[in-house]
Amino acid sequence: MKSLNLLDLYRSIIALPSISSTDPSWDQSNEQVIRLLADWFSQLGFAVEVTQVPDLPGKFNLLATRGEGDGGLLLAGHTDTVPFDPGRWNKDPFKVTEEGNRLYGLGTIDMKGFFAFIVEALKDLDLSKLDKPIRILATADEETTMAGARAIASAMAIKPDYAVIGEPTGLVPVMMHKGHMSEAIRITGRSGHSSDPANGVNALEIMHQVMGRLLDLQRQLKEHYGNPHFKVPQPTLNLGHIHGGDSPNRICACCELHFDMRPIPGVGPDELMGLLHHALEPIREQYPDAVEVNHLHEPIPAYGTDPEAELVRAAAEITGNPAEAVNYCTEAPFIQQLGCQTIVLGPGHIAQAHQPDEYLDLSFVTPTVQVLQHLVSRFCLSK
Ligand SMILES: [Zn+2]
Repeated sequence: MKSLNLLDLYRSIIALPSISSTDPSWDQSNEQVIRLLADWFSQLGFAVEVTQVPDLPGKFNLLATRGEGDGGLLLAGHTDTVPFDPGRWNKDPFKVTEEGNRLYGLGTIDMKGFFAFIVEALKDLDLSKLDKPIRILATADEETTMAGARAIASAMAIKPDYAVIGEPTGLVPVMMHKGHMSEAIRITGRSGHSSDPANGVNALEIMHQVMGRLLDLQRQLKEHYGNPHFKVPQPTLNLGHIHGGDSPNRICACCELHFDMRPIPGVGPDELMGLLHHALEPIREQYPDAVEVNHLHEPIPAYGTDPEAELVRAAAEITGNPAEAVNYCTEAPFIQQLGCQTIVLGPGHIAQAHQPDEYLDLSFVTPTVQVLQHLVSRFCLSK
């Protein structure tokens, strides 16, 4: 392990494809990456546990632990990447290319490269002097369902004091982000000849009322809820897609609307769903069984750590960057359910994530290794 440098580590992890996608033709197992990480962390003296994510054959989480007991620091990240657009990449996504002070490759910053940084940081620390345990968590399917992180949260098998998720924040500590919900409302009416409205039940007319109610809810969210750390303080509601009917001379029998809502810390998915159902109640009374509401994906809650929390202050001090709130989602809300102070902090910029020719700017290398070493020393090593 001592002989492997960061570039070697990067080459070996980027070479193992681990794409997750809701499109089955893209979706891959992350097993090869998990095996590689198991090897890396065993060599560093960690006890390694690999578990299959429930009901997802070929998808695995890895938990590596060095040290005893509860508490300590968890360094976490996801092993999967998004798919890539072959026509738009100028480099081989699975072969690290070093060029112009950059390392190109799929996952260099989002984010399996982060595990190479962890190894690089740990190999020069004396881990025989651990006061508190250090844990490494590598999850599956963050880019699609967050099933790996959800499984960790529901198993509740570990209780770290602090967690750092190495998504590309440009080494700025992130202490808060909104969640995301995608919902569908389907109205089922009854078709009929358009010459007489009494021939049917018009789903478009019911949807018109539904949309009026949703816009009222949107206003209500803006007036009554907000968090000043966000540029857009309130939980938002966006009407995104609608389809209904087939012909001007038929009463429309079916209409479906898709919209999203973005929860904020303290106003979670359950509360937003409650407000939504309350808003739709009068319509349901008027048209029993006509209105159906379904999640398009499982809700991702918002996440927030107290700006005054020890980990947030430590990360700001170590990096020299004040903590901030961002508008993208991570696994933080699930990791936080373990009861730990949680931040997102890692090398590379989010703007380069999910892009052709994803790259790590090499200027992040030294500071990232130092930040990780500081965090481990501060929260796990005896003084
Ligand atoms: Zn990511």
